[in-house]
Amino acid sequence: MSPSLGKNFRLPRTVLPGAYRAELSVDLEHDSFEGTVAIDVTLAGSATQVHLHAVGLSVTAASADVPGTAQPHLARTEVDVESETVTLLFASPLPAGAATLHLTWSGRFSPGLRGLYRAGRIAVTQFEAADARRVFPCFDEPAFKATWELTLRDVPPGVTALSNGAIAEETADAAGKRRIRFTRTPVLSSYLIALALGDLVSSEPRTASNVPVRTWAVPAKLGLTAFAQEAATAVLPRLESYFGLPYPFGKLDQLGIPDFEAGAMENAGCITFREVALLLDPATAPLAVQKRVAEVITHELAHQWFGNLVTMVWWDDLWLNEAFATWMAFKIVADWRPEWRIWMDFEVAKGSALVLDAMQSAHPIRAEIQNAEEAGESFDAITYEKGGAVLRMIEGYLGEERFREGIRLYMRRHRGGNATADDLWGALGEASGEPIVELANGWIRRTGYPLVSVALATAAGKPTLSLQQRRFFSDPTAQETGAPTRWLIPMVVRYRDDEGVKEQRVLFGEETAQVTLAGARGSIKFVEANAGAVGFYRCRYDGPLLAQLGQAIATSGDVAPIERMALVSDQWALVRAGAGNVGAFLDLVKAMAGESDPFVLDELIGRLSLLEARHVADGERAAFQKVVGKLFGSSAALLGWQSPSGAAEADDTRLRRAALLRALVIVARDPGAVAEAESRALKHIVSTGAGAAASSLDPNLLDLAITAAARNADGGRFDDFARRATTELDPASKRRFLHALARVEAAPVVGRAVEAAMTDLVPMQDFTSYLSVLLSNRATREEAWRLIRDRWAEVHAKADSPMLLRRLIESLGALPERRHLEEVEAFLAAHPIPAARQATSQTLERMRMDAALRERLMPEISAWLAHA
Ligand SMILES: [Zn+2]
Repeated sequence: MSPSLGKNFRLPRTVLPGAYRAELSVDLEHDSFEGTVAIDVTLAGSATQVHLHAVGLSVTAASADVPGTAQPHLARTEVDVESETVTLLFASPLPAGAATLHLTWSGRFSPGLRGLYRAGRIAVTQFEAADARRVFPCFDEPAFKATWELTLRDVPPGVTALSNGAIAEETADAAGKRRIRFTRTPVLSSYLIALALGDLVSSEPRTASNVPVRTWAVPAKLGLTAFAQEAATAVLPRLESYFGLPYPFGKLDQLGIPDFEAGAMENAGCITFREVALLLDPATAPLAVQKRVAEVITHELAHQWFGNLVTMVWWDDLWLNEAFATWMAFKIVADWRPEWRIWMDFEVAKGSALVLDAMQSAHPIRAEIQNAEEAGESFDAITYEKGGAVLRMIEGYLGEERFREGIRLYMRRHRGGNATADDLWGALGEASGEPIVELANGWIRRTGYPLVSVALATAAGKPTLSLQQRRFFSDPTAQETGAPTRWLIPMVVRYRDDEGVKEQRVLFGEETAQVTLAGARGSIKFVEANAGAVGFYRCRYDGPLLAQLGQAIATSGDVAPIERMALVSDQWALVRAGAGNVGAFLDLVKAMAGESDPFVLDELIGRLSLLEARHVADGERAAFQKVVGKLFGSSAALLGWQSPSGAAEADDTRLRRAALLRALVIVARDPGAVAEAESRALKHIVSTGAGAAASSLDPNLLDLAITAAARNADGGRFDDFARRATTELDPASKRRFLHALARVEAAPVVGRAVEAAMTDLVPMQDFTSYLSVLLSNRATREEAWRLIRDRWAEVHAKADSPMLLRRLIESLGALPERRHLEEVEAFLAAHPIPAARQATSQTLERMRMDAALRERLMPEISAWLAHA
């Protein structure tokens, strides 16, 4: 035995693959497979050993053909578990130049949702970040791009087979077993290869820019594919026009997979999705579900260029793939469906990145990555949403045209190859003539983000902004160690003076700055220091500016909804950070309760919901709920539960109604509203159960109505919901009933709701979200937490992949009290999860802060309630 190559071993660049020709025979009865592959490689020098990645594969034969040599070079193989490699050892050296490696192996399906795994009656692959090696011995790092020609053998009759390429040739033997060869792909990294076999059927193909587009689902769900077809065919030409390059992979298949770890995976030409991110029933899908599906489809399509055609060199630039696709998806969907106002949803998602990134356990967007396991750890809101927000901020600063020119230059220059983030900044800098490398790296490589304090004074007769920046921490006791971080902040400031509304761009890089509002005439009516909320920073206005802003919100349309949302988010963050009193925050909420924009309302109600759930003392909950009911009751009554005339309403009206009723039913628990919600939910269930075309309940109200019904569920209703959680075809509806089970409050069914987590009722993909709902529910919380501890081995096995384990750890963050924190700390110390180190420290830090916050806010809320 040789010593291990170690966990951080990277394949040397001395053997480069150019083409794979692989054959795989998948045994769907026994969850196993056998394969052979020929890999054309180029050796930089003569070599007696070649390393490839492989995990859990039993390689039974290995050899190399060298041009001009009649006999193959036979190789002995050595497996190294730690580096996940198999090394071919040749008795005589292979010469420099071309060679073809031949390997034969067998393996079994992987237990987690990765490698080749079983999802119901489908066998499907999930390879990112580094699980291609669980199916093929290969050069499993993104820099090793090669063409792939895949053939499936022994495919039983009636079984659908899909891969990156279209079917090039199909033959069958006497028994009907088929041999299916797919067209050779353009050069691709191994993590983008995909195979799916099983019971899948497709919509009629539609063509967009000459690309045939199909959406695949299990047969019963074929009727739910139309929206995905519409979205893909609408956004594909828009992406082509943005990049200035045609779609690179010939055909596009979108597959809805019944059990799937992530949201979706951008495999070239063969994109796999969690069903709820692809399939929907337009008659019952809330607007939020439609938007989410369109956004995910567009995100994966954007990767076909950014990621698949031009690929990162190493996992340390994985963030760029994800940041770019995140930003691009919103941009393209906003163009396709402007009435959706999808940037408001981006603002919500950005909010979670701002929270995560304000912790001491935060990490830079771009991190040093030693190995694939670490790459897997970096898929969090900082990677996706902060990364996307930084790109948006740079675009906002450069302007759309110059930014797009830079992207096009980067794509043209690196198509078919690999590139780093600095290549992108270089191209953007070249196209714009601006210092983008410096600007971008300051945001990408530093942890956290700034709090910008803003005050207004007069200097030399001109209104002058006084700005100050420091790193923002949620924890009031946290401080920077070492030299304070300074960001180069591209700010867009908007204000109103005697002449009207004006904007000024400011590039702010020092600790403090005095910025003259050069174009101002007369007196300043208000200042918005993050116009359009495009910047990834928080603002803290001094008293007079905050009052002016409040005045402007109340009396004019000068402050845009997205800015009002950001203001609420920032003010709440300041309360958390100990820089504001919750009473003043609640006064702000009260002043804004008449808000007409549904997204801003959601922001306000979301904070109240959090306070009600976590920070109000048990004895004062009823009083708090009453206040919430009073704040929104009359607006809700004006809108009612449906359009008065039955006429169609604007999306914003429907969403406003949903936000207001959520406040009344879910947060305030207003008895009348709860009873109405429950009765409408039951009527809806009966009407859809009987096959009625449409229910009288607006789809946007379904979540809150079903929740109300679940809270009051007895045994019979629990059984009914459990049955629907298995039989509903529409994935969003299925998930709604599944989560409803975790929201029960009546004692007789609490135990059943908790126990259900460990049964087949909750599939692996929904396991951690189900636990998270149980842990957020006061009625089920303690029992669920006990189950996790008592049956840890089973719980761990049901979240058997790094991503699921991370979500499992994160779900514990729903436990609100200090004693929970102490229990979780002790438990995770005794049961550490090395693959979720980052999630563990993030979750514990968040719990520590939340426990302290709870202790601080309870008396403040009490005092506020006393005079509310
Ligand atoms: Zn992505």
